[in-house]
Amino acid sequence: MRKKMIRGDDEWRELLTSDQFRVLRRAGTETAFSGEYTDLEVDGVYLCAGCGAELFSSATKFHSGCGWPSFYKPIEPEAVEEHEDLSFGRSRVEVTCSVCDGHLGHVFTDGPPPTGLRYCINSVSLDFREGE
Ligand code: FE
Repeated sequence: MRKKMIRGDDEWRELLTSDQFRVLRRAGTETAFSGEYTDLEVDGVYLCAGCGAELFSSATKFHSGCGWPSFYKPIEPEAVEEHEDLSFGRSRVEVTCSVCDGHLGHVFTDGPPPTGLRYCINSVSLDFREGE
């Protein structure tokens, strides 16, 4: 288990940009194909833009064509938490950071081997650390 980081909205508003706040703290979505990491192919680790936790490795990133950075698994199983999301009249699985509970995106079952999963993640929810 990763240790939780709990902050109130006032604190998050000071720490995050307005776009980060809208996505991470209000489950928003960035416009498809607008994010800075969608097509990035550099080796490294993707971190939570809210709390800095390690979330995804570039080794599991793939081009899904969906317009958001896509990974077939998190860097370790406990890095993220998954929740049923019934908003917009459909059933999806929301993915959040297990440390700060920030909204990252959704996971779908149309991904590539070896997992068959597609973690579809907002760039604005991520930071990138090059070199691993
Ligand atoms: Fe986080």
